Amino acid sequence: MKDLYQREIDYMRISITDRCNLRCKYCMPDDISLLSHNDILRYEEIIMVCKVAAQRGIRHLKITGGEPLVRKGCTDLIRGLKQIPGIEHVTITTNGVLLKEALPALRDAKIDGINVSLDTLDSGMYEKMTGKDVFSKVWDGLMEAIRMGFRVKINCVPIQGYNEDSLIPLVNLAKDYPVDVRFIELMPIGYGRQFGAVSGDEILKQILLFYPDLEKSEEKKGFGPASYYTSPSLKGSIGFIEAVHHKFCSRCNRIRLTADGYLKTCLSYKDGIDLKKPIREGASEEEIGILMEAALRKKPKEHHFGQMEDQMENRRMSQIGG
Ligand code: SAM
Ligand code: SF4
Repeated sequence: MKDLYQREIDYMRISITDRCNLRCKYCMPDDISLLSHNDILRYEEIIMVCKVAAQRGIRHLKITGGEPLVRKGCTDLIRGLKQIPGIEHVTITTNGVLLKEALPALRDAKIDGINVSLDTLDSGMYEKMTGKDVFSKVWDGLMEAIRMGFRVKINCVPIQGYNEDSLIPLVNLAKDYPVDVRFIELMPIGYGRQFGAVSGDEILKQILLFYPDLEKSEEKKGFGPASYYTSPSLKGSIGFIEAVHHKFCSRCNRIRLTADGYLKTCLSYKDGIDLKKPIREGASEEEIGILMEAALRKKPKEHHFGQMEDQMENRRMSQIGG
């Protein structure tokens, strides 16, 4: 599928729940009101949307949330998505709390990659940032995923006054293990608006003090907008995703399906199309496909974080899926 600006859209992020077992300060700090079970797309409805999307050129799917592993049957869904003709990769992004137990089923489902969100290796800071004292569970899951040979990426959101001292220890994981450690710039969405981001340039400067031979890599990894750096002393690599300071909208290849079946074409805008209602009213695959194409025609050229407040997304990141 191409949009109006000739961007090839081949990647869809699917939030399968707005619930989470952590309370990250910049994402879901309190017990917010949650969608009811009936509001959430059933797995067969998600499969239908993905089938239609695959017929229109979507090739890569990312399962996200809330925390996707808290929804029962998540690994069965992944197995089902992997069988859709045209879908080449299905990956998951998880906070890792329930990862260790899920790994055998994820392997059986033939998942193509696991992103673990981990903002610090300091268990005290972890509890401060996520509201839960579960760092060791995440660590065990991460280590087991690496041991089992999954393609693992670690995602860290650096926050001023919180995990700034944790960034080099996280980088060191790419020295010791074949993992990509990525720094994601905090976006002014939901509770994220209340915290200060640390820019990628600043982090890179710090890393260069410890890894002076770090070099920009031209190799394409995954399907996203990260730019990567490698060094002979690293088994993995270091990535940066800077949606605000280094806009990558001209290369945007993605759409998003929220847990309640809303198809969003840009993270920063509230615009999109509700697919749940037509699906539940019996719309055919063809009709859903037409709705998707109509949504895509409205995909904005670029985000306007901080401007055009009336059109800005008011959902929280836990409701969109990142
Ligand atoms: N619970 C899963 C997890 O933490 O990986 C999946 C959902 S979570 C919303 C996906 C990613 O979004 C996480 O890596 C999280 O750190 C990131 N995130 C949440 N709020 C953000 C914000 N305001 N700016 C940038 N990233 C954010
Ligand atoms: Fe949950 Fe992920 Fe949001 Fe943290 S970032 S509260 S783990 S959804």
